[in-house]
Amino acid sequence: MSIPLLDLKAQYSAIKDELEAAVLDVLRNTQYILGPKVAEFEKALAEYCGTQYAVGVANGTDALVLALDAIGVGPGDEVITSPFTFYASAECISRLGAVPVFVDIEADTYNLDAAQIEAKITTRTKAIIPVHIFGQPAKMDEINKVADAHGLKVIEDACQAIGAEYRGRKVGTLGDAACFSFFPSKNLGCAGDGGAVVTDDEELAAKVRALRQHGSTKKYYHGLVGYNSRLDALQAAILLVKLGHLDSWNNARREKARRYDELFAGADLDLVTPAALDYIKHVYHLYVVRVPNRASVEAVLKEEGVGCGVYYPVPLHLQEVYSGLGYKLGDLPVSEAASHETLAIPLYPELKPEDMERVVKLVKTTVAEA
Ligand SMILES: *Cc1c(COP(=O)(O)O)cnc(C)c1O
Repeated sequence: MSIPLLDLKAQYSAIKDELEAAVLDVLRNTQYILGPKVAEFEKALAEYCGTQYAVGVANGTDALVLALDAIGVGPGDEVITSPFTFYASAECISRLGAVPVFVDIEADTYNLDAAQIEAKITTRTKAIIPVHIFGQPAKMDEINKVADAHGLKVIEDACQAIGAEYRGRKVGTLGDAACFSFFPSKNLGCAGDGGAVVTDDEELAAKVRALRQHGSTKKYYHGLVGYNSRLDALQAAILLVKLGHLDSWNNARREKARRYDELFAGADLDLVTPAALDYIKHVYHLYVVRVPNRASVEAVLKEEGVGCGVYYPVPLHLQEVYSGLGYKLGDLPVSEAASHETLAIPLYPELKPEDMERVVKLVKTTVAEA
């Protein structure tokens, strides 16, 4: 029997009736763009995160672009971020004509190494984008301290971490604004593309709200050059249903991660399980192990019908698009090592205990043979 990396069909079957009723309701009332469903979801999302405002947008990438645009990032500016993330975390900076500045990560959490940020700050630095990679919040107290000392804004890339907590505070409340993606595979996913910006800053929220709708606050009156980047009402209806299940899904992910930790523990193998810091609530968007012989583990899992994934094979500072920025191999060694050694194995709320045992056995055996 094959074991997928993520099983969206299992999730759909469990909440089919609720989801289908919500979608039909929108289809029948025909308010497809913004309107009451999007407003209702925004209210629920803000309440969930503990922020004053939430603004639904077309996807997580746009959430980042609009948030950066709203704080005034533009040509000539620099924005600090992680090289070990999905490209959108840096693409949003380049899209606005600014320059991404990459700071290496911590070897255990794969998150931005706060201690290395200060050395990369220049007079052009405008903001920091910490990415809560794989569902684990970055060290936000340390990051905010550097940001405050230099008057920088902090935009959380929380696309993989909705519901995660840092020292008892939810992601979304840890910087000036935070961005979420509702891409189907995320912990809270819709049936297509979707995203949101959350913040306590009234002015910033109003600006993102205008930007998503052609820079307009009143129909056919335009104060800004904006975007067409709205969350669909159909997606909002789906997200409203799924938001009600998010905590129980995240808890199930956490329990399964604990079980994986247990199953991997004790083996005298060159295999590293995800760091779990006691003051952090990790929501395990992905369960990522570090193995020396990744290619063989990947090959064996594929052969056995077990889903796995490499996140991310090329760190951003070595991507072709950034060849003009002057980085070379060896500049950010922790990210480079992680890109060669990490592998995500199946993790989702519906994952069966016996399947977990089978995955662990295959991984352990292959690592032992290395
Ligand atoms: C998914 C993701 C994004 C982009 O979200 P989209 O909705 O696909 O545009 C940005 N940053 C990170 C870290 C992500 O995982």
